[in-house]
Amino acid sequence: MQTRLDPDLLATDAGQEADSILRSCVQCGFCTATCPTYQLRGDELDGPRGRIWLIKEMLERDAAGPETQLHLDRCLTCRACETTCPSGVRYGRLLEIGRERLELHVARPWRERWLRRVLLALVPWPRRFRPLLRTGQWLRPMLPERLRDLVPLLQTGAGRVQDQSVFGRRVVLLAGCVQSLATPVTNRATQRVLNALGVGGIEAPHAGCCGALPQHMAEPEAAREMARRNVDAWWPLLEQGAEALVMTASGCGVQVRDYGVILASDPDYAERAYELAQRTLDLSEFLIGEDLGSWQLPEPQRVAWHAPCTLQHGQRITGLVERLLDGIGCERVPVADAHLCCGAAGTYSILQPQLSRQLRDAKILALSQHGPERVVTANVGCQMHLAAAEELPVQHWVQLMAEARPRP
Ligand code: SF4
Ligand code: SF4
Repeated sequence: MQTRLDPDLLATDAGQEADSILRSCVQCGFCTATCPTYQLRGDELDGPRGRIWLIKEMLERDAAGPETQLHLDRCLTCRACETTCPSGVRYGRLLEIGRERLELHVARPWRERWLRRVLLALVPWPRRFRPLLRTGQWLRPMLPERLRDLVPLLQTGAGRVQDQSVFGRRVVLLAGCVQSLATPVTNRATQRVLNALGVGGIEAPHAGCCGALPQHMAEPEAAREMARRNVDAWWPLLEQGAEALVMTASGCGVQVRDYGVILASDPDYAERAYELAQRTLDLSEFLIGEDLGSWQLPEPQRVAWHAPCTLQHGQRITGLVERLLDGIGCERVPVADAHLCCGAAGTYSILQPQLSRQLRDAKILALSQHGPERVVTANVGCQMHLAAAEELPVQHWVQLMAEARPRP
């Protein structure tokens, strides 16, 4: 499509990037068919083509107001539209640029500003978030349904693992902010699987939140600061021989894989951030290269696999977890509309509760249709969101891998 962006904006890197993305869109509308919010609302402005048009209006004529904010806020950043788009439009990046500009030009009501501040000040910081989360989990049975939905069930049984530094082969694991508190079993199960392969899974003590949360809330400097801290924490471990940075939460994986872009203009970090992003693997990418040929579950399991958007659309990783699960003896049940988001989407379930709930209800229906014994997924956000409905047990897929063992 033709563009006429403001010349001052075009003089910036972000302006040029937005211009090139806008020009790559031919406005064909194929993407609307796979957009979850368009499917729910049937409004062109709640689909990718409409949102692209709103961002174009804002960048060309400064024409943005509460309506622009409403429709951009309703976007899940699931990036299903990118997977569908035949022209390769990088919608997710355009949305980031649009949201950052929108925050500068359109004020939010004080309640929204306050809620966003609170989320940013608490959620990415485990020491601050832990007391709130534990109190919420303790009070959970007494909470009204709307609030109960937002508090993840208490997960127990993580157990202890042996010293990870004794293994000859090593990888770096991200403990994560929410994951370390809400689903601690995930990284412990990952370490057990890695250890059975002769690999240690090291968590760097000074690493923290990957930065996805501020990035999606149009706070790019906060996201950059978190990326810098993680580069400082992980780089020495890679230099000391760790093979890769292995991500057990796909929402963090998609963010870390972007560190090279996020820190591209920081001369002190650009090179290391790029290298680190290149050496980042999803857990499925690491395990698929290992010898798991004889691993089997003690009993076959009937499971429904929920592929997070950050895995299938954000990182374009498909088919690997499925192969690993099939290999250990899982019977995967068919799941309709597997490309659609479950409605978790970072803080979306808090900021857009109605749409989020509608999407979750539809996802649970699709996942439970063929009677699985459990649902498995690859991202802490999806896991907590689906589990909170208390309809089916929901786990990280690595928990199944940890139950499997090599056959003699
Ligand atoms: S983003 Fe892609 S699919 Fe959607 S309207 Fe533009 S070119 Fe078509
Ligand atoms: S990112 Fe997801 S919700 Fe947003 S426009 Fe694309 S498909 Fe729709």
